[in-house]
Amino acid sequence: MRSADLLITGGTVLTVDEPGTVVPDGAVVVRDGTIVEVGPADVVAGRYEPAEVLDVRGCLVMPGLVNTHAHLAMNLFRGEADDVSLEEFLRRVLRAELVQLTAEAVAVGVEAALAECLRGGITTALDMYWYPEAATEVADRVGFRLLNGPSFMDVIDPDGRDFDRRMAWAEELLTQRRAADPAAPVWVMPHSAYMLSREQLERVMALARRFDARVHTHAAESPGETAAVLDRHGERPIDVLDAAGVLGPRTVLAHGVQLDAGEISLLARRGTAVAHCPVSNLFLGCGIAPLPQLLQAGVPVGIGTDGAASCGALDIFAGIRLAAMLHKGVTQDPRTVGAERAVRLATTGGAAALGLGDRVGALTAGRRADIVVADLHRLHVVPNTDVWSAVAYGLTPADVRHTIVDGRVLLRDRVLRTIDEASVLDRMTDLRRTRSLDLKERL
Ligand SMILES: [Zn+2]
Repeated sequence: MRSADLLITGGTVLTVDEPGTVVPDGAVVVRDGTIVEVGPADVVAGRYEPAEVLDVRGCLVMPGLVNTHAHLAMNLFRGEADDVSLEEFLRRVLRAELVQLTAEAVAVGVEAALAECLRGGITTALDMYWYPEAATEVADRVGFRLLNGPSFMDVIDPDGRDFDRRMAWAEELLTQRRAADPAAPVWVMPHSAYMLSREQLERVMALARRFDARVHTHAAESPGETAAVLDRHGERPIDVLDAAGVLGPRTVLAHGVQLDAGEISLLARRGTAVAHCPVSNLFLGCGIAPLPQLLQAGVPVGIGTDGAASCGALDIFAGIRLAAMLHKGVTQDPRTVGAERAVRLATTGGAAALGLGDRVGALTAGRRADIVVADLHRLHVVPNTDVWSAVAYGLTPADVRHTIVDGRVLLRDRVLRTIDEASVLDRMTDLRRTRSLDLKERL
């Protein structure tokens, strides 16, 4: 008998490995935060003496969902700029951020967002926002796999720093992160071509090269953005980013809605990944991304939520559903994208986009144990003859029973174990009640 920390047994295991293996009545064994074996429960379970067992009969066991584009603490402004254009949204939210945000408020927002993520089966998120140190502190305490880094816009930041002083702060932050864990990837996040000059983009990229950092930016989100970039730079967003050296195999570009065929093939040649954010794109009326063309061209694609102020709930199941269905409507061809492809985008696809392709995104031996267990014994998924379809067309965050990150059960039987949910709900409500974060009052 071999020792193990955790045995998840009796559920239908959707591994999302390359061949798409599904193990009915399967088991997943975890030791030291790593998946050590996946297979039929009657074969696997008897070999181990686990410290903890999750009996998950009637449930689906699948890889944790990867959110490739978020502004987690933007939940502080949820509902404050609905049903307006991207330009008006940015005017309201950005002004409020610059005037009102504090590291303490961001910490509360991130904690609430991570609680929502874990309830919705999200185990990894790429987060672009102010006060990344505060976000990381919360994520480390919670046990969540959060990727973030210094972000840059041509504005005075909430701490009163201009671009030059923010660059200096960023260099210090990246130096600290490198020293703390030389093996961990670091990120830099130039917001977009419309928020930065060519020189600023190039300076941020020089910083990225110096730290061998991964890069996250926004591009080609809306027609208004394309017009603003043409106005500022005389070129379209993708051309500007390419000329400034932003595009490359270590870059994740959020949205990619307003792309022509040449731009799609350039992204493919550069190996640049796209975070497909269909909920946000619909929310802000930005358009529908050419997902089938991106996939056809070989562009790596993951699913993102964007910030809660421009998507409502942080719900990757909703992103999967739209990715699976939206493009059937656009092409009037029901074979476009579909369930399996969309589920892969939110798991292996997202993991690969973030440079975590060999670490998370699938349930195979050797990967980190980021695992979601969702109830299949529900009216909206029964009799679930096809589990890919159950995920893409049925499951919602409310169906998630357990969420495991790095082998730790952070949501168990729908109870968060590292977040005091009642307290974080109260703190979110208090921030709103004091009107300190109410845009309509202030702006
Ligand atoms: Zn965004």
